[in-house]
Amino acid sequence: MKKIITIVGARPQFVKAATLSRQFALQGVEEKIVHTGQHYDANMSDVFFDEMEIPRPVYNLEVHGLGHGAMTGRMLEGIEEILLKEKPDAVLVYGDTNSTLAGALAAAKLHIPLVHVEAGLRSYNMQMPEEINRILTDRISNLLLCPTDTAIENLKKEGFDHIDAKIVKNGDVMQDAALFYAEKAEQKSDILKKLQLPKFVLATIHRQENTDNPEKLRGIIAGLNEINKEVPVVVPLHPRTRGILAKENIVPEFSIIEPVGYFDMIMLLKTCEMVITDSGGVQKEAFFFEKQCITMREETEWVELVQHGFNILTGSDAEKIVNAYHESKSKKSDFRINLYGQGLAAERAVKEILVGNWQFRSNRAI
Ligand code: UDP
Repeated sequence: MKKIITIVGARPQFVKAATLSRQFALQGVEEKIVHTGQHYDANMSDVFFDEMEIPRPVYNLEVHGLGHGAMTGRMLEGIEEILLKEKPDAVLVYGDTNSTLAGALAAAKLHIPLVHVEAGLRSYNMQMPEEINRILTDRISNLLLCPTDTAIENLKKEGFDHIDAKIVKNGDVMQDAALFYAEKAEQKSDILKKLQLPKFVLATIHRQENTDNPEKLRGIIAGLNEINKEVPVVVPLHPRTRGILAKENIVPEFSIIEPVGYFDMIMLLKTCEMVITDSGGVQKEAFFFEKQCITMREETEWVELVQHGFNILTGSDAEKIVNAYHESKSKKSDFRINLYGQGLAAERAVKEILVGNWQFRSNRAI
């Protein structure tokens, strides 16, 4: 039986991993999950494993609350030890966090075949830690599973045609999750009963480029405060953002709630009037649940959403955010276009990992 080690650590990775883990189980693959500990609060981690029925991590490195260097370094050391012991046939990493990079480096240095899910995405903004993590992970991966045509183009532009790695478009695994769990969310979530809001805008704020710049954060909060005068704004707030708002004495006038589990998030996405976010995943989820989205960043990796008019980029400027809200409110979009694979991304990914012609099991150093 094939043995895969999957590295996860942050909230979006739990959502993505849920989809492939289910496919691995169906295919009889032995998967062992390593949790780096990057996100550790119950509502940022455990709730996803419980609700989405993700196999419990076999290892938890409990690395969190450190600067980028120390965090990545300790993860690298911990993951290497596990890989030496487990001797997997392949290592699987998701997305663009420090856990992704640490897992990728550990695997590549031991010559263990490396799979990157959500490969090829670029913001072309090297100030983002995520952009650095993505570029480096892609460069040392053996199988690059890309969600979109744009991702494939990005890799080609960087010369990946000349690199010994297999590039495949499999679609976006987050759409698989949204489709698979939507009905369960209807049955299990009671968030709408708790909120009692007939109409609201759903917003999330956590990107470091926004939270770590008080001027930008003030702009965002001012914009959301203004929209909140017209329609209630509900924000399940990331713990980092909460801490910085308190430290900077920035006072939101809208509804702040604790981060919610995936089922509650689905129900919020399904019923809101619109989504305003700086998250990567939530931009796409707005589209999956047929909502206009405003992205409080200067650029996005999910350019097709902007090109098709589902998403407006505003940066952190309060006036731009409010104007985009008014523009989006009256928009009627047809969301039926297939941009992300319609729920088949994980199945395609696992098929490619198991029977695709790439370096699976080859060049083993351990
Ligand atoms: N999410 C959630 N509860 C929340 C906020 C987000 O379940 O309170 C989910 C969201 O639906 C998406 C994932 O977490 O599936 C995205 O994670 P995040 O925005 O933290 O990261 P990004 O996608 O920006 O990397």
